[in-house]
Amino acid sequence: MSNNEGINMETKQVVIIGGGIAGLSAGVYALRCGFQATILESHSLAGGNCTSWKRDGYLFEGGMHWLTGSSKAEALNKLWRTVGALDDSVAIHTPEPFFEYDHQGTPIRFYRDIELTEKHLLEVSPDDKKEIKAFCNNVRKVKNLVMPITDIRGVKVTRKQRMPLSLLFAAISSAGLMRKFSKISRDEYIGRFKHPGLRELLRASTDEVSAMIPLFFTLGILARGDGGFPEGGSLPFARRITQTFKSQGGELLLKTRADQVVVEDGRAVGVQAGENFYPADAVIITSDTMVADQLFDKPLHSEWLERMRETTVPTMATLISLGINADMRKYFKGLTFKLPGQITMGDLSFEYLNLNNYADDPTYSPEGKTAMTMILPGDSYDFWKSAREQGNYAEQKQHIADQVIAALAVQIPETAGKVEVCDVATPLTYERYCGNWRGSWMTEMTPSMNMNNYPAAIDGLAGVYFAGQRMTPPGGLPVALMSGRTAVQYLCRDTGTLFISGE
Ligand SMILES: Cc1cc2nc3c(=O)[nH]c(=O)nc-3n(C[C@H](O)[C@H](O)[C@H](O)COP(=O)(O)OP(=O)(O)OC[C@H]3O[C@@H](n4cnc5c(N)ncnc54)[C@H](O)[C@@H]3O)c2cc1C
Repeated sequence: MSNNEGINMETKQVVIIGGGIAGLSAGVYALRCGFQATILESHSLAGGNCTSWKRDGYLFEGGMHWLTGSSKAEALNKLWRTVGALDDSVAIHTPEPFFEYDHQGTPIRFYRDIELTEKHLLEVSPDDKKEIKAFCNNVRKVKNLVMPITDIRGVKVTRKQRMPLSLLFAAISSAGLMRKFSKISRDEYIGRFKHPGLRELLRASTDEVSAMIPLFFTLGILARGDGGFPEGGSLPFARRITQTFKSQGGELLLKTRADQVVVEDGRAVGVQAGENFYPADAVIITSDTMVADQLFDKPLHSEWLERMRETTVPTMATLISLGINADMRKYFKGLTFKLPGQITMGDLSFEYLNLNNYADDPTYSPEGKTAMTMILPGDSYDFWKSAREQGNYAEQKQHIADQVIAALAVQIPETAGKVEVCDVATPLTYERYCGNWRGSWMTEMTPSMNMNNYPAAIDGLAGVYFAGQRMTPPGGLPVALMSGRTAVQYLCRDTGTLFISGE
């Protein structure tokens, strides 16, 4: 799909729409390869969904819980280092256990170490030996499926990435598992376990749509020693890439919303943002590909875009953040428990609550206090939209928050009457903040989904490249990074430029 021959390499100006992790990464790689890069970011801060926000002395983590590629043993780690997101000064936290479910006072856990998980689950329920062993073996099967770092066909690179043979075996083994589990519903699988606590643990850590596969993959990533939490979380993470971009000569224009990619004779010539026109030899669009049409005067068409539009199931959530005037360090960081009564949000109902407890990290709260966030997952977009239209959006937010606070007080009585800050971010918040489709920040990993990369370009539209979390389902930070790098490889290929990887 080489449709950019003849791009003007005299000026080599790349305009990047969106300063999230994909846009910043694309910017760093573009600069490395000798292009001039300007990022247009509509918000007052770069980072996009990879962000946190301050409220009355508390910092609420809003875009990262664990990071693939945080371990030095991962090939992806070199990419995070290339863009400056990680370096030796950034501590990576890998607390054990990873997940704890409170089953009527008995903690049941997933450890990062799959051997520990197996031992622990067998102690909890010796009668489930066969299923526990099979469960842990499934995790071992996907454990070595690392995200491949690849070069696109036809690009000249300083150092070619080679796919290790071990990855090929891991891919075959994982594909077999995915095929098998695409036919098994979550409830059918969970029904194989006898112990009610194990059933609850599995219900609380999965959802009906995606079923078991994401859990196996998550535990697999952790089992190979990856998936740590970079100290400080999202904000400093995004800030470090921003600094790399700027220090290498990149231009970041904040509060600059791109309205239109200007196309002449089938080639992008620049971007219109309000009154200003930014001329470009190439444009990299990193705002949500699902709504990229908004940037053109007529709808975009291509086979892969149609496929994306037809198959994408958005991942979104309502995020409740609480500032609690009490020290919650003795409570487990990822505690999950059954709600005393169901919380409902339109068609969605919630049986469990998973806490992210930041009590042990002084970045997130003043001394003796605790910041906590809780995700109510699922597609609640229409619910919130209709609340807004009916004029009771604020009341609904308060209503949901009150239920969460009441449930928390039953589980952890020390929180009763101690919640002094409450913040609710809905899919509408994310939509307003980042312009993403239905306020979603990833794609659901449905059992039948194709996890291949979408190409970064469209036939017949020269000088336009796409990057961002949608480019490889299920998305997330590593995909944002990789897709930024891939978009620049397309640009290099089409302009005959050497891709300087640095990895
Ligand atoms: C609560 C939560 C928890 C998460 N946890 C994890 C996790 O643990 N691990 C993980 O890997 N991922 C996680 N994610 C997902 C991850 O944060 C996102 O997938 C990733 O940040 C997406 O990056 P992006 O650059 O592709 O897109 P975005 O972050 O959406 O960035 C797009 C940028 O484009 C800007 N923009 C949009 N339109 C325009 C325009 N017209 N002009 C100019 N600028 C524009 C937006 O303001 C935004 O800054 C989480 C997300 C959330 C919300």
